[in-house]
Amino acid sequence: MKMPNVVSCDVTQCAYNTNNRCHAMAITIGDGSHPQCDTFCQENTSGGDPEAIAGVGACKVSSCVYNQNLECQAEQIRVGPSGDEADCLTFESY
Ligand code: SF4
Ligand code: SF4
Repeated sequence: MKMPNVVSCDVTQCAYNTNNRCHAMAITIGDGSHPQCDTFCQENTSGGDPEAIAGVGACKVSSCVYNQNLECQAEQIRVGPSGDEADCLTFESY
C-alpha cells in the first residue's frame, strides 16, 4: 500500500494549515460513515513540520470507494470546510 498525500486543504483555521497545505506528518480521516478530518485542531500554535506535506495515515470510512482495509488508496485527497468541521472532499460513496 502507498500512503496518499493531502494535496490541498482549505481549512485555514487549522493549526496544521499553512498556505492551504496540511503540514501534519499524517492525518486520520473519518468517524463511522462521515469523512471528517480527525486531526483538525484549532490551537493558536502552529502544528506539524513546515517542510512536510501530510499523508493519510488512516481512514475509518469503509463506505468510500477508495477505502481498503481502513486505509485510503486514492491517488491523493483534498480536504475542505464543512460547517465547523473539515471534510475529505475526495470521499465517494459506493
Ligand atoms: S483540517 Fe486536517 S487536513 Fe486540513 S490542515 Fe488540519 S489536519 Fe490538515
Ligand atoms: S478518499 Fe475516501 S478512503 Fe480516502 S481519506 Fe477520503 S474518505 Fe477516506
